[in-house]
Amino acid sequence: LMAESNPGGELRAIARIAEDAALPSEHASFRELVGDGQIVITLDPKEGHRYQGIVGLDHDTLGGCLEAYFGQSEQLPTRLWLAADGERAGGLLLQRLPDASQNQDVDAWERSVHLADTIKQEELLGLEQREVLYRLYHEETVRVFDPKALSFGCTCSRERMSYALYTLGKDELRDILREQGAIDTQCHFCHTKYHYTAADIEILLEDPGAPPPVIH
Ligand SMILES: [Zn+2]
Repeated sequence: LMAESNPGGELRAIARIAEDAALPSEHASFRELVGDGQIVITLDPKEGHRYQGIVGLDHDTLGGCLEAYFGQSEQLPTRLWLAADGERAGGLLLQRLPDASQNQDVDAWERSVHLADTIKQEELLGLEQREVLYRLYHEETVRVFDPKALSFGCTCSRERMSYALYTLGKDELRDILREQGAIDTQCHFCHTKYHYTAADIEILLEDPGAPPPVIH
C-alpha cells in the first residue's frame, strides 16, 4: 500500500496484492491484513531536509500505528479516530500543540480526548465535520478553518518514467527492444501510457537527464 499527498490537496495511492496471495476474509482484523509490516512515512519539504519515520504495524488499528508514529517521530501527543466501510472513510485527529503547556486550561487535552472517545464509527462516516465538532465540543471555544478540497493528482511525467527506465540498465532495455520492438509502460497510479521507440531509448541512454526528486 502506498499513498502520497502534497500541500495542494492532491492525493494518489495504490494497493497491490501478490498474484498468488490468498485473499483475506472480509472480517479479517487489521493485524491479519497487514501481517508484520511497517509504515514508512516520508516528509519531503520543498525546502529543508527530507525526513523518514518508520514504525511497526504492531497496533490493532491503523490509527494506533499512526499515533505511535507521531509519538516517536514528532513527539507530539496525537490521537486518531478512523472509520471506513468500503465506500466512505472518515476520521478525526487531535494533536496537542507544542506550546500547549503555557495554556492556562490544564486539562484541555485530557478533556478533548475523552470527548472524542465518544465518537461512533457511523458518526465519523455520516456526519458533516461541523456536526461532529458540535456534538463533541459544543461547550468549548472552537475555531473552524475553511475546508480544503482534495482531489486525485498524479506526479508522473515522461521525464520520470524515462529515468525509471534508464535505471533498468542498457542491457535490459536493449533486450526488451529486441523482443518487443518498442517499450510501452504505464503509470500504475493514473494509467497514463508512455511509449518509447528504439530511437527514443537510444537517446535516453545517451542522456538520461537529471534524476527526478525522490517522492517515495
Ligand atoms: Zn501517473
